[in-house]
Amino acid sequence: MSSIIPPAAIGFIGLGNMGYAMAKRLAEAGYPLTVADLNQDAVKTFCNETGASASASLKALGEASDLVITMLPEGKAVRKVLLGDGDNVCSGLKDDTVIVDMSSCSPVDTRSLSEELVGMGYHLIDAPVSGGKYKAADGTLAIMAGGREDLVEACRSVFEVMGKPFRTGGPASGHAMKAMNNFLSAGTLALASEAVITGTKFGLDPKVMVDIINASTGRSNSSEDKFPKFILPRTFNSGFYLGLMAKDLRFAVDLAKSEGTSAGFIDLLSSIYDKAEAELGFEADNTELFSYLELQVEQ
Ligand code: NAD
Repeated sequence: MSSIIPPAAIGFIGLGNMGYAMAKRLAEAGYPLTVADLNQDAVKTFCNETGASASASLKALGEASDLVITMLPEGKAVRKVLLGDGDNVCSGLKDDTVIVDMSSCSPVDTRSLSEELVGMGYHLIDAPVSGGKYKAADGTLAIMAGGREDLVEACRSVFEVMGKPFRTGGPASGHAMKAMNNFLSAGTLALASEAVITGTKFGLDPKVMVDIINASTGRSNSSEDKFPKFILPRTFNSGFYLGLMAKDLRFAVDLAKSEGTSAGFIDLLSSIYDKAEAELGFEADNTELFSYLELQVEQ
């Protein structure tokens, strides 16, 4: 397959915190875009801002596209837009079209979706991202692409508009990599939160604690980025929902179960995030895990 460069047309589905900024970069790079989202206000604003077309239907988006990108909450929504009853993207696609799922999904489900799409004459690359909405806007996301090597290579120019691509291996390996990354990311947030809450209760200044952690061996992305930007100022506006992180941890649990590798940390962390989501709601920011843990101490 030859390299996908403008004027190749891209169908982009999912204009939320991440997708809006990623699709905007593709429009600015010269790719003609057709977009869709359940949120019609987001579609309208995006089309006014970038000159992209709103699709009349998912089938029409498929017909208009040389490449389709999904950036949706999880695999059920991806399956619904691609193959769901009634209107769907695949009913409009040309043979051999590549679909790139940049959402974070269960690697176990992605394996079977990929086989199903190949059986229908299409191809799936799973290419989830790390970096959050600010890196999406800057085009500095880490992109973890699983799928056939020649197809990932053909999409390299598209990926490079949004960030730095890494090929992770065959189908579903990008989603497996993302689940493991977010296990670590959720873990460092929980551990640093407990450390700061405990030290503060003893009388340490939380800002001094974070400065010292960041000059010491306990540092992590959570202490270096999330604490100074979103937690210490208590703005809790990283742009990544707590419910999405809890979902990623459930995928990590599934993966560890399917491979028989859990040492207990993934299960423990997943149950803590599930409880925090039940208490604070799906759309709380993931950094609000800190205030959830503070409340546990106060009770
Ligand atoms: P979001 O909830 O802000 O956006 C999802 C968008 O999908 C919404 O606009 C919603 O209306 C749309 N949508 C849902 N179901 C749909 C359907 N059936 N048809 C059409 N549109 C539909 O989520 P987000 O933060 O942009 O995250 C998207 C994906 O990226 C998730 O899998 C998430 O885990 C992952 N992710 C998020 C971040 C982050 O910092 N926000 C970082 C890395 C990865």
